[in-house]
Formats: sequence, structure tokens, C-alpha cells
Amino acid sequence: MKRSENEKTKNISIYVHIPFCVSKCNYCDFISYADMNSIVPLYFNALRQEIQVKLAEVNVEEQYICRSIFFGGGTPSYVDSQYIRDVLKTIQSKISLSNDCEITIEANPGTITEDKLNSYLLSGVNRISVGLQAWQDRLLNYMGRAHDITQFIDNIEKIKKLGFNNINVDLIYGLPTQTFKEWQETLNEVARLGINHISCYSLKLEEGTNWYERYQKRELPEIDEDLEREMYRYAQELFAKQEILQYEISNFAKVGWECKHNIVYWTLEEYLGFGAGAHSYINQTRYSNIADLKEYVDRTEANSDIIAETIRISMQESIIEYIILGLRLNKGVSLNEFKRLFGLSLSELFYNQIERLTKQGLVYIDKHTIRLTRKGLDFANQAFIEFMN
Ligand code: SF4
Repeated sequence: MKRSENEKTKNISIYVHIPFCVSKCNYCDFISYADMNSIVPLYFNALRQEIQVKLAEVNVEEQYICRSIFFGGGTPSYVDSQYIRDVLKTIQSKISLSNDCEITIEANPGTITEDKLNSYLLSGVNRISVGLQAWQDRLLNYMGRAHDITQFIDNIEKIKKLGFNNINVDLIYGLPTQTFKEWQETLNEVARLGINHISCYSLKLEEGTNWYERYQKRELPEIDEDLEREMYRYAQELFAKQEILQYEISNFAKVGWECKHNIVYWTLEEYLGFGAGAHSYINQTRYSNIADLKEYVDRTEANSDIIAETIRISMQESIIEYIILGLRLNKGVSLNEFKRLFGLSLSELFYNQIERLTKQGLVYIDKHTIRLTRKGLDFANQAFIEFMN
């Protein structure tokens, strides 16, 4: 028997990985595949099976209530919307959703239709995260994106017309050959569309990608780090003027439109991940699923284990993760909350590190919180390393 919402004791979030894309972008190291359409039905059978088994295993019906669901990829909007609907039904048959459960789907321009959007609405999806990356067709083409800017504008119009108002747009800066002017145009045009959540990621050249290989062969133009920092600061300044406030290193939102699901990751709350390569964090343990699509399907069908790695997180590791993830948020880490969770004083435990970082102007601490300064946001990794040491 399902308990009512206020009888539940623990919150949980759910991530569902949909690893299919129209084509592979040049910079992408996510678990995503183009030309794998034939495996789509089998993948979703396996996915639903995994959800049923895992949710029963952790006995979520008895202990948990689901606060957010995130369909990520890949390109979840690439597959038939019926699959998304069925996955949501499966989840709901096993766990109660909170009344304000945030349900996000990642979507890429060119794969979004009115039919799909209507189906998402009927299934309960209430947030759409659109991958644009850049406003200029020249850059989209260079990145190997499967869409142009006209498709993006058309898709945003459709999304709004059908009544979605919780919309995110993903952007990338520090792209090879990207000019400051192009970045300015991208930000201004997206802000002009009245989008209430914007994520700005700096490009990372990851091993195994087309661009990484080209970079190794010196075929990719160098990325100017100073220019990249300038681009980041421009985003901070422009959005501040438009009341799209920075609440995390890479994320900006109008007040009240922050992404609940991502906040779960940054505050070390529990979540379950389903699908190839998906990660979970529950009972102080991190799990990851096998990434190979075919193996994932075969093993699930055969009721075999699909866990690739299990890592038990010690108290010390939890403390460091909690600080590092919490510092990503503009509001920082609450000293009282830290004490409540770990029974220790953060400022005493990391007295030397905090002293050094304060002198360098990277963190700010008062009676209630510790957080990164404006300079600290620019050199966050330096601050994180200090806590790790
Ligand atoms: S659309 Fe996204 S997930 Fe798919 S290949 Fe491009 S960057 Fe990767």
C-alpha cells in the first residue's frame, strides 16, 4: 500500500538515460549513439525492467517520495514520445511523486514536434531543457550539431505555445574560433526570448571525441583562456542586469526557476539512475551501470547484474564532496547544516584551508555560510583542490 506524501520519510530523485541522437557532435563524450534505431524498442524494454526491479529492490514505495525526474541523454526528444510516457507510467506504478515533482526532458532542436510536446504534457513532463549551444549556424555546423538556428527558434515557439513555461537553454562558450561578439549575440538573443533558465558551460575537450583527436594532431585552433574567462564574466554581468541570477557556477535562472533536479546533485541528496551508463547515489554508495548499450540490454533481459562499479563513500569523502558540490552554489554551504549532517564544525575542520583561500580572495566565510567569491567562481578548481588536500 502506498503511503501518503507526509508519511514518507525520504526524498529521492530519478535520472533516466536515453542514449540516442540524430548524429554525434564533435565535442561529445556522453554515452550517446547515432544510427542505433534498431535497438530502441529493446532498450526501452530493458529500461522499464530495470526501473521495476531496482525500485522494488530499494523498497522505495515504503520509504521514499520522488521529487524530480530527469530524462537526459543523448537526445530524449529523438525517440517516439510513447516511450517516455511508458517509462513515466512505470516509475509512477512503483513510487509516489510529490505534488510539485519537477519532470524534465532534454530536447534538441529539430527533434521537437507539437505531437511530442502534447504527449509530454499529458505524461506530466513540466520542464524542457533545450540544447542550443550557439546562435550562429557557422558554429553549430562546426560543432557537428544536427540543427540550425531557425529550427531552434521554431521549436522554442512551439514549446511556449503549448504552455511550457519552465524552459532551460544550454549554451557553450570557449569554442574554437568562437568570437566574443558571437558569444554576446548568443546570450542576448536567448535572453530576448524570455527564457527563465540558462546553463553556460565552458568547452572541455574530452578524450575520445572528434575534437580531442583533432586537437592532439594540432588541427584544432587553440582556445584562448583569457577570452574564455571574459565570455564567462560577460554572461554573469548581462544576466544580472536581466534578473536571470547566477545560482551555480554554470547556471542562471529567474528567481523560483532554479533546476530542482540538479540541486539534488549539488547538495548530495539521493538519486537513482536508470539506463546505460547511469549513476545512482543512495545509502552513501555510488553505483554506475554498464555503458555498453547491447550489453545493458542483454544483461537486463537475462536478469543479470548491470552494475559496473560500486563505491561506498566514507564519512571523510562525504564531507569533502558535500563542501565541493555545495561551493558550486552561489548560496554556498551552510555551517549549521554542515554541523547537523556531520556533527562537526566546518570552520574548525578546515581552518587552514579556509585561511589560505580567504587570503587568496577565493572564498568568503561569515557566521552562517562559506561560499566562493566572484574571483573564486573563476578559479573554483583551485579552491576545490585545497579542500581535497
Ligand atoms: S546532441 Fe548532445 S548527447 Fe547527442 S551527440 Fe550532441 S552533445 Fe552528445
